[in-house]
Amino acid sequence: MNRAIVIYSGGLDSTTCLFWALDEFDEVHTITFDYSQRHSIEIEYSKKTIELAERIKGKKVFSHYFKLDLSQIGGSALTDLSIDVPKKRSDEEISSGIPITYVPFRNGVFLSITAAMAERHEVYNIIGGWNVLDYSGYPDCRYEFLNTFEKAINLGTKAGAEGKNFKILTPLIKMKKSEIILFGKEHGADYSYSYSCYTGKEIPCGECDSCILRAKGFKEAGLEDDFLVRLRNEGYNHP
Ligand SMILES: [Zn+2]
Repeated sequence: MNRAIVIYSGGLDSTTCLFWALDEFDEVHTITFDYSQRHSIEIEYSKKTIELAERIKGKKVFSHYFKLDLSQIGGSALTDLSIDVPKKRSDEEISSGIPITYVPFRNGVFLSITAAMAERHEVYNIIGGWNVLDYSGYPDCRYEFLNTFEKAINLGTKAGAEGKNFKILTPLIKMKKSEIILFGKEHGADYSYSYSCYTGKEIPCGECDSCILRAKGFKEAGLEDDFLVRLRNEGYNHP
């Protein structure tokens, strides 16, 4: 049995990974983290997208939810409500330096827990939506880090010691947003409930880095954002 687990926030990148994984693997698991994020609304949306993916692909998704409270660490606009989410930043600002939305070693923490979950369910392929855009700003999304972490999982688990070969798969690592969207569409992705906004408001703000990158991605892909189309059909106006 060919199994994989997707680190699943319900955003654009991980939704693309989910649809791709459903084409590539016999059994697909997801792990979604409830880490006291400002935008915890993404968890409710992630459930809707998983249901949608199951319907579209006619295949069960084994979804796991994991609670951990990263607000106890804080230090990020995503886990400390007293720090504002940056708005209306230019492309240059977004692509330079490490933003205040960086959550201290979040990816390392998530990967450790995902590896534990994967070992327990005998799943040896770990998939994440890390990509060029993210890794320019977030050091724990760099390919070198992921490659080294893969070695650590193989060295530090019982399954690894017994010869199972854990792999960290990065299907989107070299893609920009528009390419990710087009790749997702090739795999039947529906982004109607895929939520990306850092503010956590039900209607995406359109001004945070995540909203800006998403809008740019859809524009460059020559497509309308499924999420906004759905909002419009439901009678909402988007800023
Ligand atoms: Zn936003």
